Amino acid sequence: MAVFQDDELKEAWASILGKEKYVLMLREIADSYPDKRSVFIDYDDIDMYSSQFAMYVMEAPDRCIAAASEYIKESAMPPSWDPVNIVNVRITSIPHDAKVGIRKLRAKHLGRLVSVDGIVKRVTPVRPRMTKALFRCAKCGQEIWVDQPGMILAEPAMCTNPATTCNRGPLKFILDEQESIYRDTQRIDFQESPEDLRGGDQPERMSGYLEDDIAGEVTPGSRVTFNGILRSAEKQDRNKTTTFETYLDVISVEYEQHEYDEIVITDEDEKAILEMSRDPHLFENIIDSISPTIYGMREVKAAVALQLFGGCHKVMDDGSAIRGDMHILIVGDPGVAKSQILRYMSQLSPRGIYASGKSASAAGLTATAVKDEDTGGWVLEAGALVLADGGLACIDELDKMTEQDRSSLHEAMESQRISVAKAGLTMALQCRCSMLAAANPKLGRFDTEGSAIATQIDLPAPLLSRFDLIFVMNDVPEPKYDRKVTQYILKVHRRGEARQYSGSESPEGVDIDQIMEETVDIKPKYSIEQLRKYVAYAKQHIVPVMTDSAAKMIEDNYVRIRSGYSESKTVPITARQLEAYVRIAEASAKMRLSNTVTDVDAQRAIDLVAYYMDKIARTQGGILDIDRMSEFSSKDRADINQIEKIIKDAGENGITTEDIISAASHDGIKAAEVNQTLEKLSRRGVIYSPKSGHYRHAG
Ligand code: ADP
Ligand code: MG
Repeated sequence: MAVFQDDELKEAWASILGKEKYVLMLREIADSYPDKRSVFIDYDDIDMYSSQFAMYVMEAPDRCIAAASEYIKESAMPPSWDPVNIVNVRITSIPHDAKVGIRKLRAKHLGRLVSVDGIVKRVTPVRPRMTKALFRCAKCGQEIWVDQPGMILAEPAMCTNPATTCNRGPLKFILDEQESIYRDTQRIDFQESPEDLRGGDQPERMSGYLEDDIAGEVTPGSRVTFNGILRSAEKQDRNKTTTFETYLDVISVEYEQHEYDEIVITDEDEKAILEMSRDPHLFENIIDSISPTIYGMREVKAAVALQLFGGCHKVMDDGSAIRGDMHILIVGDPGVAKSQILRYMSQLSPRGIYASGKSASAAGLTATAVKDEDTGGWVLEAGALVLADGGLACIDELDKMTEQDRSSLHEAMESQRISVAKAGLTMALQCRCSMLAAANPKLGRFDTEGSAIATQIDLPAPLLSRFDLIFVMNDVPEPKYDRKVTQYILKVHRRGEARQYSGSESPEGVDIDQIMEETVDIKPKYSIEQLRKYVAYAKQHIVPVMTDSAAKMIEDNYVRIRSGYSESKTVPITARQLEAYVRIAEASAKMRLSNTVTDVDAQRAIDLVAYYMDKIARTQGGILDIDRMSEFSSKDRADINQIEKIIKDAGENGITTEDIISAASHDGIKAAEVNQTLEKLSRRGVIYSPKSGHYRHAG
């Protein structure tokens, strides 16, 4: 490695900063200081001057940046410039191949310029940090200035007064906090992006310090590239230690322009993507590529496939926005592969995050104000939905989430932002993500005969209504289906076993080639990589518009279902489902890389909504009633009133359970429902039971 001498450094900077754009930038700084006080130098310009020098800047950034500052102070500013003013030298656009992952940072990187990508997890408030400390010798009062490059206060080594003998005895210096020089500083904790993690690794974290004009700009949840110098700091405990924490002394921050930037699509990829989009079996193929080891669940897979693409985000003339992201909830008995699907989707989706409502970190699903150990102040920590901004948040066991998440989740799902106001901290974070959630029934298993869905899941009804699609999955033994699932799961396992033999000889009694051939449908049609690229391409390039005919189809379907109200006196469907239709249809068009939403897309939406409404909102009488999602549906409420009336009419003598059931059956109420209602009414004290199997009205 060539070492540059002082005059060579000066010459290099003189040449680079002599370029017109930097001359203009420096002139602007001179004119508007201190509002503008940083010069941003593009790494390419350094490289263009000399790649040797550019490499040296990476190796010895402190020395090179100091030389640049020196050059600016001495030669680049107008004569009126006060040499006490400080111009920050910030190097930007460090090439991709110089990027280092957080977990790959090593001792050899200390003191070097590195570029690290991450998601911001926490930011502390901006606080002053001492950059130059003024000490006074306790004996003679000599003033001593000490530069403070690190995070721990550096004291003078000796008294600099030549006239005294202070240095002979024990030294003591007094810090003058008033006169010392400070700069704004902020600590940022960030972690590896989920894209860089494989196989369920926990993301590694690190801290960076941002100083002066770049402090206070970054919000939790943002994806940024930090360019900075890796430094070490002694761990702040009393025991002397030789292991050090590292932190990044950030010199510049780059924001990602687009959420799909991280997926590189070459011309060749584009050709393959367009080819894929023309395949008449595209939809089927994509479904087949989602969790191929899971049998069945075609509708759920279709829905989550469409969710990857999402609807269109719209901003209306009045400035209001309509979300395009689709939210999907899967509720079901344990062991029906809910978690499996969620994990798969979090891997498949660009910017996918998997988190569980139960074991989510302190930050939970949304965002939390937490006490910062260093500063003792409140800081905001981003939760899973914020980290998934621009992607897919897969939230398992949503029903187990904390009370705090429960209260902020509505806003997060609908307006896609989270506002936190706590301990003087108010902040809004973006969470423009789709949510794929799973929940278990309250009592372990679904009671298919039983009451409204909402009463069986521990989630508030208003939250349920935020989901575009809700799938209910029962695990009811059914010999024909069970055999198919069993065969399929065994097939998966056999393929997994056989794969390890590829090329080598089969063990006796089995034929590896034959197993591989018979199980070939378990291999996804499109690889994860292919599908990610396809989704990224569609999201970047396609903004579909609905055709007249598709709009009419959705309109007719919606109005037809609504008209069921006049007979059944239940509300079959609400405007929320209407929005779901639109988003699903748009997603379907995007999936086809079509700029128009056509009848095919409308039909897909109609079919999916019909499928889920049928499972969730149809009463035992076969009527659609969207209120079945809520605590007491209008039908349930009518049933309760009817049963209460039967008992009241029986008067003083009361009535037996059998007689109530028989009377209620005339109104189409099932025995199971009667029993539940009797329990409910007893608990509320509306009726009582003078003897077993006998009820009387309390009123
Ligand atoms: P849940 O989260 O719904 O409780 P899991 O995702 O933990 O369920 O799944 C339990 C196990 O059962 C998984 O190993 C999964 O592979 C298997 N399984 C359940 N249903 C199916 C299915 N339809 N096809 C293949 N495997 C299944
Ligand atoms: Mg699970």
